[in-house]
Amino acid sequence: MIAGYLAEWGISVTEGIGISGIVGTLKAGNSPRAIGLRADMDALPINELNAFPWRSQVAGAMHACGHDGHMAMLLGAARYLSKTKNFDGTVHFIFQPAEEKGWGARTMIEDGLFKRFPVDAIFGVHNWPGLPAGAIAVRPGPMMASSSIFKVVVTGKGGHAAMPHKSHDVILASSHIIVALQSIASRMVSPLQSVVVSVTEIHGGDTLNALPSSLFFHGTVRTYDTGITDIIAEKMQEIVQFTAQAYGCQADFEFTPYYPPVINNSDMALFAQQVANNVVGQDNVITDIEPTTAAEDFSFMLNEVKGCFAFIGNGMAGSGKNDHSPGACELHNANYDFNDALLPIGASYFSRLVETYLS
Ligand SMILES: [Zn+2]
Ligand SMILES: [Zn+2]
Repeated sequence: MIAGYLAEWGISVTEGIGISGIVGTLKAGNSPRAIGLRADMDALPINELNAFPWRSQVAGAMHACGHDGHMAMLLGAARYLSKTKNFDGTVHFIFQPAEEKGWGARTMIEDGLFKRFPVDAIFGVHNWPGLPAGAIAVRPGPMMASSSIFKVVVTGKGGHAAMPHKSHDVILASSHIIVALQSIASRMVSPLQSVVVSVTEIHGGDTLNALPSSLFFHGTVRTYDTGITDIIAEKMQEIVQFTAQAYGCQADFEFTPYYPPVINNSDMALFAQQVANNVVGQDNVITDIEPTTAAEDFSFMLNEVKGCFAFIGNGMAGSGKNDHSPGACELHNANYDFNDALLPIGASYFSRLVETYLS
């Protein structure tokens, strides 16, 4: 549908970048300068609980992160710019798959995104529940956290629950490991750094009167600094390995950096703030937004090209079930609803970025 619309508006379309990514290219004037605008496209494996007519028509799939809104905003900008062409240079409209799975941006880049469609700067937006509807929030520096995942398997000699001295208790060892992991944030990195270490799932044991011989747990780590992530991975490895050993067990530890942090280029963030001022008025531009510990794979693009990621408030009122009032219902919630009032605002923000950057 996206490729069809872009073609209909006279925009040249390249499909299949990073499997299902799409780039629309629009030129005006003679300048060699180029700008990239990115929207993510994927939904989530959630059964939508809303009852209104525009709820998902596909069981087990829901646009619970509002990426449908992001696509519509970028299409709005593409349509407007294709008609007005009030800029000098090239715009690449980048429609990216698989943001939620963490590989869409990376796969497009590995498929030559920025070699085939070079840009001087790149911009993206995400709707944000809990901020006033239509307000634009953007700051230089950290905007969203890095996300890494870890997996631990603790193994030992299982045995009779009544004779623990004849076994090595993986449950006790794992309990100590999990408690000790919480000392990373409080004792092993600077108090001025923001760090989250969360164990999110544990599996071990299957009967009441036996000590199991293995236990699995995993979780996530968030930081705003890749160097800190490396330190945490090293500390975790030591805690896991040596604590397991202290209880006579062994441990396998696997740490996978997943998304880098979203770090806005200072100049581009200040530029985006000025553009946002022109679109929604200075009173509606939030420049002191706190970075969120959520993550976004737009960070992979920002690692390649200078640019900036902004939030557009999805609204603060309502939070509720079956409630279409512009609301604060959280992203990834089965009752989430993208606030359609943002469509012209997002499309205008994208368009003004182009008209200003390529003026
Ligand atoms: Zn999401
Ligand atoms: Zn999202």
